Formats: sequence, structure tokens, C-alpha cells
Amino acid sequence: MKVLVINCGSSSLKYQILDMTNEELLCKGLVERIGMDGSVITHEKTGMDKVKTEVPMKDHKDAIAQVLAAVQNAEYGVVASMDEIGAVGHRVVHAGEKFAESVLITEAVIKALEECIELAPLHNPPNLLGIAACQQLMPTTPMVAVFDTAFHQTMPAESYIYALPYEYYTKYGVRRYGFHGTSHRYVSARAAEMLGKDLKDLKIITCHLGNGSSLAAVKDGKCFDTTMGFTPLEGLAMGTRCGDIDPAIVTFIGEKEGLSYAEVNNVVNKKSGVLGISGVSSDFRDIESAAKEGNERAQLALDVFTHKVKAYIGAYMAEMNGCDAIVFTAGVGENGIGNRAAICEGLENLGIVLDAEKNNVRGKDTVISADESKVKILLIPTNEELMIARDTYEIVNA
Ligand code: AMP
Repeated sequence: MKVLVINCGSSSLKYQILDMTNEELLCKGLVERIGMDGSVITHEKTGMDKVKTEVPMKDHKDAIAQVLAAVQNAEYGVVASMDEIGAVGHRVVHAGEKFAESVLITEAVIKALEECIELAPLHNPPNLLGIAACQQLMPTTPMVAVFDTAFHQTMPAESYIYALPYEYYTKYGVRRYGFHGTSHRYVSARAAEMLGKDLKDLKIITCHLGNGSSLAAVKDGKCFDTTMGFTPLEGLAMGTRCGDIDPAIVTFIGEKEGLSYAEVNNVVNKKSGVLGISGVSSDFRDIESAAKEGNERAQLALDVFTHKVKAYIGAYMAEMNGCDAIVFTAGVGENGIGNRAAICEGLENLGIVLDAEKNNVRGKDTVISADESKVKILLIPTNEELMIARDTYEIVNA
């Protein structure tokens, strides 16, 4: 069966088609500037050059229609007709407490996801638009929703309850949810496979370090804790997000700078993190170059980022009473040789020893710890699309 994977944002959309008989990637692509001037689709059939086509797309239905045209194109398409697509898997950011696993999309599921919009006002609406557009254009194709929050639903209450008046949880769902769940699930399962062990017998800390970053403590194959919370703002210092701060700063800065709640929210989401500290960029490559040239604030941004990752590794080792493996993934985790070295430096007493030579690698499944390291350190490129396709295939076949 061929599965179409859709990851729909507010003005952009990523897609892939995988042949699930052998999990082969047939094509992938990106639609940008949906609903704006200069809408463009970039399509790449595996083994061929990218094809970029500018075409007006006023909404998500137009965008999906262009995707369907590209994948059926006589020259660079991968299917003769849409009948070859057995199912569509949709990435959906927030399922609140409603779903702990991926589900077949029904009217009731859509309604439940609409109820989660207030928890993810920027993400769930475009995800739902993508689902609606696909349903209109492929009315008989089964569709599955795969949630960023689902993997973290196994967290125990002590991990997810905030020390706030309890009724904020019962009345409004204010609790920690966690994100990047599909990535944490994929790399933890892959780590067990690479170590030749049963995931249920392992304690793993997965480090998804990208523009947005989070760690997860995975114990007995289930998420025990994660650094992101009610929103993807909590936890590590990120590209532009502040991560953990004293909440009193929000009102303090609001008063000092004369900013509204919405404006402070914008600052902590878009103008903080390593961008805010360095003043250089949110991109770790730019910050690293600036630091090498002697920019002290750029170095400080890297140090703060490293410090938080280390602190959470320590916390999760304490929470799980040890750790068998640490996994690095996503843009910085997969490519940031220096970032990984800095994070692991000085953790020898916790049994974490990186091998400098093995660490000199990018973007492939490999073990990078020294032979004497009690904790295995792994590099695993994440593959959320494959996970979405697998779930979709399994659910539709069941
Ligand atoms: P992601 O959000 O997973 O796409 O990751 C994006 C981040 O990965 C950006 O901040 C990039 O700077 C970072 N990244 C990509 N390549 C490298 C590299 N060679 N060294 C450090 N960071 C990198």
C-alpha cells in the first residue's frame, strides 16, 4: 500500500508518499506561501531533481490539489491515479488528553480535535484544514491522525501536573502535554533496535534538538517525562523560544516595557532563546560561526543551551534511576558535532563518555559513545513521516 503523509501548517505544507511494502520513500515535497502571492510547490521524486512550480494557491484545498497533480504528473509523479494511494496520514499537533495513540479520522475525531484548538490555536486549525481539503479531494480514502502529544500521554501525574490551583487543570486542561512525540517515539524504538534490546527493558533519554527542542525520558518503552509542557515553550532554550523562565518575568517585563500579554507572548516565543541571548540568529550554525569569531554573546547562547540540556539529562537520570542510552536527533542533534561534544563534556561521573572520533559524524544511525561508556550515546536521524506512514498503514489494515 502507498501512503500519503501530510504535515499541514498555516501557510506551508509538507508531504511524502511511501510505499509501505518496503517503506520506500517515493517522493516528497513542500508547498509554501499558501494564500499569499508567489505560492510555490517544490516536488522531488526520489532519484530525480527537484521541480519547483509557481502556481496560485488561495487556500489549503488548492494546495492539496497541486500536491495531487504533482504526484500524478506523467514525468515526475509516482502514481498513475489517486486510487493507488491506500491511505493518508496527517500530522496533528495537539490532541489534549483525548488521544494517546494515532486514530482513524472520523467525524467524532474531527470534533474532538476542534475542541483542542484552544490548546494549539496556531497549529490545530491548519492541521484540520489539511484534513478537510484531503477529505474533499479524496472522499473515499481512509485517513489517520498522528499526534505530537500522544506519546507523552503515558506520563505519570507527577510529571504533568503544574503546581498551580488544581482546578485550572480540571477546568481548562492546564497541564503539561509535551510535543515532538512522534520523533521521540521513533528514535527510542530505533535505539532499542540498534542496541538489540527490547524497548521495554530500557531507560532512554531522547534529545530532539532543532529549532524547537525537547528531551524525553522514556522508561519501559513509555514516556515518563518531557521538557515541553502546556505549550512547546517550556523546557530547553530554543532557537527563538525562551524555555523555562521564572513566570514572574512575564508580568515584570510587561510592566517595564509597557507590553500586553500578547506582546510578551510574542517576545518569549519569537525573540528569545539563542536568538535573544546572542542577538545574532536563531540558527545554530550562525551562532557557532559568530562564537568562533569571538562574539561572546553567541558563545553565551551556546553555553546556556548546553547547560539546560545537561541539567535535564541529570534530572531524567534521577527520575528514572539511571539511563541506558542517550539519543541525539533533529537538526542540531544530528549535525551539531560541537553541540553534542559540549553537552556530553563533564558527564563522565554519570557514566556518559563520548568518543570524539565516533562523534565526528552527521546524519546517520550510529553509536558515538566510547567503549567504556556505561550509557550508550546514539545518533539517530529522526523520521516522523515514516512513523506517521507506519501508524497509518497499521490502522487502515486493522
Ligand atoms: P530542525 O528544526 O530539526 O530542522 O533543526 C534546525 C536547526 O538545526 C537549525 O538551528 C540549524 O542551525 C541546525 N543545524 C543544521 N545543521 C547544523 C550543523 N552542522 N551544526 C549545528 N547545527 C546545525
